[in-house]
Amino acid sequence: MATVGFIGLGNMGGPMASNLISAGHTVKVFDLVPELIQSVPGALAGTSALDAATDIDVFVSMLPAGHHVRGLYLGDGSEPGLLAHMSTDTLVIDCSTIDPASAQAVAAQAVEQGLAMLDAPVSGGTAGAQGGTLTFIVGGEEQALQQARPILEAMGSNIFHAGAAGAGQIAKICNNMLLAILMAGTAETLALGVDNGLDPGVLSEIMKVSSAGNWALNVYNPFPGVMPSAPASSGYKGGFLVDLMRKDLGLALQTAQATQSAIPLGSLAQNLYQLLSENHDAGGLDFSSIQYLYKPGLKNT
Ligand code: NAD
Repeated sequence: MATVGFIGLGNMGGPMASNLISAGHTVKVFDLVPELIQSVPGALAGTSALDAATDIDVFVSMLPAGHHVRGLYLGDGSEPGLLAHMSTDTLVIDCSTIDPASAQAVAAQAVEQGLAMLDAPVSGGTAGAQGGTLTFIVGGEEQALQQARPILEAMGSNIFHAGAAGAGQIAKICNNMLLAILMAGTAETLALGVDNGLDPGVLSEIMKVSSAGNWALNVYNPFPGVMPSAPASSGYKGGFLVDLMRKDLGLALQTAQATQSAIPLGSLAQNLYQLLSENHDAGGLDFSSIQYLYKPGLKNT
C-alpha cells in the first residue's frame, strides 16, 4: 500500500480520496478550504500543499482549471511551485480537466526535475467519483502508468493510455465535445418529433435501434419523463453541469485554435450551451437541459 498526497477535495476529489483510503492506502490531504481538509474520514490533514506533497509515494491533484494546476506545480513567478520541492521518487498524477498546453508545460518541468508525471483526467462525474467507477484517460510514459495503476484502480474501473504527456487531456476534450454535440442534436431531434405529434418515448425507442442510436438515447434521454433515472426526469438536477460542459467546450476551442483545426459543430455547441446558460439560467443544471432551448415550455411542467 502507498502513502498518497491528495490536493483538491471538491465534488470529485473528496470522494476520490475516500476511495483511496477504503482501498487501504494512507492519504494525506489538503485543500484551500479548511473545512474540506477535515471532510475526508480517515485521512491525515495536511497543513499546506507542500506538507501534503512531503514523505509520500504518489501525489494526486484534482483542481478546477489550468491556472490552478500551473500555479500549484510551477509557482507564480515569485515563488517556485511544488515540483521544485518534491522528492524525485514521487509519482505525480494530475486528474484535473485542463488545457493540454498547461498539462504539457507542467509535465515537461516535472521531467526536468527528474519526476514522473501523468495527466489523468476522468470521465464518470460525481457518481463515478463516489462509486469508484471513474474512467481515467491517461497521458504520459507507459512505465509511470504501470506504477500508477494500483492507485487509479482504487478510484476507477477503466484506465486508457491515450499517448504522451497531454494526450489524456486531448482525448477527454474530444470526448466531451462530441458529447455536447450529440446531446444538442438529440434534443433538437426529439423536439422536432414532438412538435409533429410524436411521443418522445416512442421516437426514442425507434431511434435507439436505428441508425441514429447514441449514448444520450440509451442512458441519458434529455426529454423529461422518457427515462425516469435521467436528470431530465428530475428537473435536470445533478448530473454533469452546463457550466462544466461550457468549460470543456472552451478547452476544445482553445485546443482547436492551437492546431488551426476546424470545429464548426464544436463552436456551435459552445454557443448553444452559452445561450442555454444565459437565457434559461441553466449554468447549475445538468447539460441535457439543452432541451429547454428547443422546448422552453418544458420549464413550466
Ligand atoms: P470543485 O471546484 O468542486 O473542487 C476543486 C477543489 O480544488 C476546491 O475544493 C478548491 O478549493 C480546491 N483548490 C483549488 N486550488 C487549490 C490549491 N492551489 N490548493 C489546494 N486546493 C485547491 O471541482 P470538481 O467538480 O471537484 O472538479 C475538479 C476537476 O474535475 C475539474 O477540472 C473538472 O473539470 C473535472 N471534472 C469534474 C466533473 C464533475 O462532474 N464535477 C466530472 C469530470 C471532470
